Amino acid sequence: MRYEGTVYRPPSEARSLIIQVTIGCSHNTCTFCTMYKDKKFRIRSKEEIFMDLDEMSSAYGELPLRIFLADGDALVLKTRDLLDILSFIRVKFPFCERVTAYATARDILRKTDEELQALKKEGLSMVYVGAESGDPVILAHVKKDVTVEEMIQAADKLKKCGIQLSLTLISGLGGKERLREHALESARLVSAMKPEYLGFLTLMLEKGAPILEEIQAGQLTLLSPDAVMEEMKLFLTHVDSDGTVFRANHASNYLALKGTLNGDIPAMLAQVEEAEKKQKYKSERYRML
Ligand code: SF4
Repeated sequence: MRYEGTVYRPPSEARSLIIQVTIGCSHNTCTFCTMYKDKKFRIRSKEEIFMDLDEMSSAYGELPLRIFLADGDALVLKTRDLLDILSFIRVKFPFCERVTAYATARDILRKTDEELQALKKEGLSMVYVGAESGDPVILAHVKKDVTVEEMIQAADKLKKCGIQLSLTLISGLGGKERLREHALESARLVSAMKPEYLGFLTLMLEKGAPILEEIQAGQLTLLSPDAVMEEMKLFLTHVDSDGTVFRANHASNYLALKGTLNGDIPAMLAQVEEAEKKQKYKSERYRML
């Protein structure tokens, strides 16, 4: 098994077998992200991928495991190649419970319904999309290179093709300057996309991230824990996405929240208010990734 560079995966894939089908991220310009800045993007050859799968199948082939296709945006691969990889997984890991990957809205929109349905049939059950914000101003500012409309279209397409969506937002991404817009527009985006899963991270500053320079230059004001709570309350009081499994219990979050929208919103709001009242937030030193 040959991993190249640091390998990232969503928190819910902690126990999954990770197979790199790409190295790095084809986009790689988001100003808050340092994950793949040290990697030159390339798609791995099928031979390399098959060799890894073959090797891992001798140890784990009979187990009911999950497989996550890394790195940044596996759906950038040609559908034919992805289908070959998924079908190889079915042969080598007959008890595999699910295969998932990161994807961008544009990767999803580039594929036809027939292609996505074929991928679903061959085992791709869910994709993780980093929306980060529903505010078009923030999206442009952090160089996400995607529109709100494209994200909504991509979610509709996934739904139609039976592939589940796990969406991620980042608390504090608009700083103090766009706190309100970030919360309200993100609530509007989630209400339109209605993902099966929604995860909230909180902005963390990592060395080398371009956004750090903006903060140091005083162009973007980082949110205090109280301001993150204010943003979360605004989001929770405006979102409407019944059935979405909501998680804000990542290492980066000041307060761990989990529940199912919309039913658990009142309980989560009460938790936020309680934390504000008692000033009971995770210490900065525990927000290390
Ligand atoms: S946030 Fe996602 S799309 Fe943006 S650079 Fe990082 S991995 Fe690539």
